Amino acid sequence: MDYIKRLTSLFIFLLFLFTTTLTTHAKSGQTYEVDAEWLHIRSSPSVHAEIIGKLKKGNKVMAFGENSGWLQTYYHGGKAWVASKYLVPDDEKEVFLTDGLLSGYTIVIDPGHGGKDPGAIGHNDVLEKDLILITSLKIAEQLVETGATVILTRVDDSFVSLNDRVLISNQADSDVFISIHFNAFPEDYVGGINTYYYQSGKGLAHNIQHALSQEVPLRNRGVIQSNYRVLRDNNSPAILIELGFITNKTELTTIQSDSYQDKVARAIANGLIEYFWE
Ligand SMILES: [Zn+2]
Repeated sequence: MDYIKRLTSLFIFLLFLFTTTLTTHAKSGQTYEVDAEWLHIRSSPSVHAEIIGKLKKGNKVMAFGENSGWLQTYYHGGKAWVASKYLVPDDEKEVFLTDGLLSGYTIVIDPGHGGKDPGAIGHNDVLEKDLILITSLKIAEQLVETGATVILTRVDDSFVSLNDRVLISNQADSDVFISIHFNAFPEDYVGGINTYYYQSGKGLAHNIQHALSQEVPLRNRGVIQSNYRVLRDNNSPAILIELGFITNKTELTTIQSDSYQDKVARAIANGLIEYFWE
């Protein structure tokens, strides 16, 4: 009996060690909390680099890269670096940064599917959930760069229920909720992008779909009303964007490219600026 107990505590300790080792590596899209009285924000990943700002204990930053002990984030619209040894991972997936046109707005980005739910399956067995995560992180990066407070409903391949996605948005008292998806259809030739809303997201849907059609080379399939749960039960203006068909060979090549994802991220930021500032 004692032997089993000891084995169990050893296992728990190893699990703890394993988890802490894992979390010392910055994950793109992961939020960290400052665990020192104050922390310098620097222009490049070095203690000799120029100090461009200061964070206090409890402030949050979102990671977009890592360079030997330094975590890359955004500050006043530009790339900035903080020493990762003073940061602890934060589960709230939330980040505050000042300045920029989206400053003061809380935006929930909801990468659809994840974990046991792969979403649609496209050509070459590409899974919708994987492409969604990559694209959503790019969108979050662009929005943080523009000054927004961004909350992601998932930052890795984990399963999040529809109920939890809505709960995250409602508890954060978000200004808007944007769910990211890719589309699928049995016939290869069908393609294009479209945006769904339930009620309050109508204006936002039009702004975002318009911005996407200006920036992105795919067919504009327009704005559609739909009764999706993440939209219907949301207290905030909520939309769901289908960013192309992964069952269309040509379109899949396009939507897997960096340049497409950058354009999508820029378009969503532009659409939001229009929406909030119009
Ligand atoms: Zn989907």
